Amino acid sequence: MSETPDIVYRVNARDEIDYVSDGWDHFAVANGGKTVLSTKVLGRPIWDFIMDLSTQEIYRALIHKARSGHPLRFTFRCDAPWRRRFLEMTVVGKEGGAVEFRTRTLMEQERPVPILLDADVERSDELLRSCGWCKKFLVGDEWAEVEEAVQRLRLFQRRRLPSITHGICDECYEKMNEVATTA
Ligand SMILES: [Zn+2]
Repeated sequence: MSETPDIVYRVNARDEIDYVSDGWDHFAVANGGKTVLSTKVLGRPIWDFIMDLSTQEIYRALIHKARSGHPLRFTFRCDAPWRRRFLEMTVVGKEGGAVEFRTRTLMEQERPVPILLDADVERSDELLRSCGWCKKFLVGDEWAEVEEAVQRLRLFQRRRLPSITHGICDECYEKMNEVATTA
C-alpha cells in the first residue's frame, strides 16, 4: 500500500551498526534527523543513539531475544512534524550474533505541523516528556496525542514553547516489555 521502502539496519555481535539500507538517509532527512545520517552511524555502537535508559533496557532485551533465536515484531510511531507515521519493526537474529532491524511503513497521514513540533519556535527551559514509541506527550498524569497536548496546555497562547525530552509511556513500556520477554 505504501511506496516507502523498508528501512533495514543491522548490528554485529558487538552491537555496532555495520549495515544500513539505501533508504536510511532519505528517511533520516525526511525526519529532520541530520545527525543520524548513515556516515555517522556506521561502525558506532547502537547505544550511542539511544539516550533514554528505559528504552536502552528494552532494546537490550529485544536484541538478546533475537539473538536467542526468537524473532520479534511490534508496531510503533516515528512521526515527522508534518506527518504521522505508523511503522512495524521486525527484529531477527542473524549469523554470528548479528541482529537485523527491519522497519515497514504501515500507514502515513499528512497533518498540519503542531506548534509544539515546530522546529522554528523559541523554546523555554520547561520540559515536556514525549514517548519515543507512540509520540504521545505527558500532560499532568495522562499521555495525550500532540494535538491534544497543545490544546490542553494552551500552547497557542505561549510566546515560547516548552522543550521536548524523550522517554517511554507506561503503556508502551508494558507492551515492549511483553514483546521483549515472552517467547
Ligand atoms: Zn508510548
